[in-house]
Amino acid sequence: MSKRAINFSAGPAVLPLPVLEEAQRDLVNYKGTGMSVMEMSHRSPAYDEIHQTTIATIRTLLSISDDYDVLLMQGGASSQFSLIPMNLMTSGKADYVDTGAWSTKAIKEARRVGSVNVAGSSEADEFNRIPTQDELQLDPTADYVHITTNNTIRGTVWNYVPEVGDVPLVADASSNIMSEPMDVNRFGLIYAGAQKNLGPAGVTVVIIRKDLVAKGDDGIGTMFQYRTHAAKNSLYNTPPCWPIYMVGLVARWVASQGGLEAMQRANREKANLIYDLLDASDFYRGTVVKECRSLMNIPFRLPSEELEKRFVAESAVAGMTNLKGHRSVGGIRASIYNAMPRQGVETLVAFMKEFERTHG
Ligand SMILES: *Cc1c(COP(=O)(O)O)cnc(C)c1O
Repeated sequence: MSKRAINFSAGPAVLPLPVLEEAQRDLVNYKGTGMSVMEMSHRSPAYDEIHQTTIATIRTLLSISDDYDVLLMQGGASSQFSLIPMNLMTSGKADYVDTGAWSTKAIKEARRVGSVNVAGSSEADEFNRIPTQDELQLDPTADYVHITTNNTIRGTVWNYVPEVGDVPLVADASSNIMSEPMDVNRFGLIYAGAQKNLGPAGVTVVIIRKDLVAKGDDGIGTMFQYRTHAAKNSLYNTPPCWPIYMVGLVARWVASQGGLEAMQRANREKANLIYDLLDASDFYRGTVVKECRSLMNIPFRLPSEELEKRFVAESAVAGMTNLKGHRSVGGIRASIYNAMPRQGVETLVAFMKEFERTHG
């Protein structure tokens, strides 16, 4: 087999090699069934076991109580931007905190359904930080408060869970779910597209408090109601069986690594290798306020766009891919999710030092 890339993609992103190898072993004949998981009935005992185990492993890793349903849905996090207001904006208004492109998109979709109060925003600072609790102007009668826990494009993370009183807190955790422990009980709903930290694209995990499932509008389309999926344990219609199988393998891999505390430790160590270099360098410049730095997505700039182009080109020759920053912000971005091996980050840091030495 030719060498695997050191893949810094923001998503779909690198998966743990042991997971890919296990999937490969079972690809054409899953555990003696004579067929691939991709070919199985979603009503078969073999698939049912995969489905239940995937949900159970997610529940265990995140210590999710019986007050919550765990749903496996399709349509990506982007569909949740619409489903959340459709189901939860029952009195017609919600608070949103705008921390960059994904929050902005969530706000745009919520505005189609009702009235959005932008309760906080870091737009004036080019989204280089997360608003503080004191800055939030929350409406105590809002149907919910929406935040984006990790901002994949800007590289910021909420380092606190905002105090929102009795209003349900809704979080887009697409790019940092399962990268560290999370107190699910502080939230009404957490959602995440799988393709950053959980598996391949094609399934979205929704963790929703049961009272919010019940609160949902039952006048909207069947597939767009949370209660449809909650009542049938995400088997109302054909689920994305293969992505769910892969999420199950990834979740088991996380557990085998020691769970979310161990993930957090490893992620801190990996991120600090890069942040320490940025802090010590006059050549590289981090773009995020220190207290709000993401452990998952690390954007930085070089002295010129010309040097950034060369950085991307030369890093590719050295086996590292997808280091170009998002087209909307430019610069460089290293996405280092759970599955990025420490060795990959060490290779990047060594490359960065050498690049500075030869181009600085
Ligand atoms: C990637 C991403 C999305 C979009 O996810 P899709 O599954 O492509 O719809 C939304 N929010 C955040 C924070 C993301 O990182």
